[in-house]
Amino acid sequence: MTSIRIAQRAQRIKPSPSGAAADRAQELKREGRDLVNLVVGEPDFDTPAHVREAAIAALRQGDTRYPHNWGTPALRAAISRKLARDNGIDYGAEQVLVTHGAKAAIFLALSATLDAGDEVIIPAPYWVSYPDMVLACDGTPVIVPCSEAARFKLSAAQLAAAITPRTRWLLINSPANPSGATYSAEEYRALAEVLLAHPQVMVMTDEIYEHIRYDGRANPHLVAVEPRLRERVLIVNGVSKTYAMTGFRIGFVAGPLPLVKAIAKLKSQSAGTSCSISQAAAVAAYEGDEGFLAHNREVYQQRRDRAVALINAIPGLGCLAPEGAFYLYVNCAGLLGKRTPAGTLLSDDQAVVLYLLEQAGVALVPGAAYGLSPYFRASIATSLENLEQGIGRIARAVAALS
Ligand code: PLP
Repeated sequence: MTSIRIAQRAQRIKPSPSGAAADRAQELKREGRDLVNLVVGEPDFDTPAHVREAAIAALRQGDTRYPHNWGTPALRAAISRKLARDNGIDYGAEQVLVTHGAKAAIFLALSATLDAGDEVIIPAPYWVSYPDMVLACDGTPVIVPCSEAARFKLSAAQLAAAITPRTRWLLINSPANPSGATYSAEEYRALAEVLLAHPQVMVMTDEIYEHIRYDGRANPHLVAVEPRLRERVLIVNGVSKTYAMTGFRIGFVAGPLPLVKAIAKLKSQSAGTSCSISQAAAVAAYEGDEGFLAHNREVYQQRRDRAVALINAIPGLGCLAPEGAFYLYVNCAGLLGKRTPAGTLLSDDQAVVLYLLEQAGVALVPGAAYGLSPYFRASIATSLENLEQGIGRIARAVAALS
């Protein structure tokens, strides 16, 4: 008899709950269920034509071999220019490492830096993968709940209270998935003040939603706001959300060279070099016309405004207008304690999400997955028509509760 032994590292973690919810929604749809899918974590816009053309041209030109482990010189140079142009920060191409999406960048960075028991401060609600990645890398996630009253943002006082001698990282995601929270220069300055007093703490800035912001909000960069932190900030970003390139799997890190070198070493001995065709496409994304960004932002903002108004008109539900990213984080505290027509008690946000799936045919992700309950996440990366239909269904299902 074979006995397969699974390492503690893999036993400690669970599969991504938003990924599981997305898979389930797709399955139900395939089974013929009439479903409005508000789980989607990727833009519903097409990848820009010039980006797709660049991928095709790369294939035609035979750009099909192993590229350099760090990324192609063209892409690293384009990222260096992008950091200066969009973020006002100066990083040479030699400080940039191309990765297999932002997700792999974060995992590699944690695995290059964490030893058993090292702590990582994660403001909640958080992107589902952060705590499990920390656990997989033998670290200890330190979750700091950030209330809706504080617009789901970490305060300087909360940060100061969470830091210990074992703290290795603060993970900041701005604009944030799922809350849409976006840090202003002033808010960064307050956090930086605390960080300057704790030189052992590095900061990982996950900026994957940087261009999806509303109401003309600026997008200050922590390093530009506080250059004294530069030697311990690791920038994580990529093309997935901005350029609707989720399938291309291109991300990057930029930061202090010794840190980026350690991450590159792990990359070279694990997933290895990143796809040559995707890298050619990413160069076109960073260097090409970005006119579509303003258009996409406008479309997302119209959807946000409409969806927020519709949700806030439902008794028992409420949500803040997100400052960025493409999700609503809906407070469902007003539904807890109610009963479904079938007599089931809605005791937590998972029960609410299950009820809305079964009764209304609307797929959502429970707040429990993001470390702050009772909420659910609704994606606005779908048409206005779908949003109106989905939220209308939610309203009717909520009205049927007693
Ligand atoms: N970071 C956040 C906050 C995300 O929401 C996601 C994707 O959902 C990622 C990183 C992953 O990005 P990528 O597709 O580049 O791996």
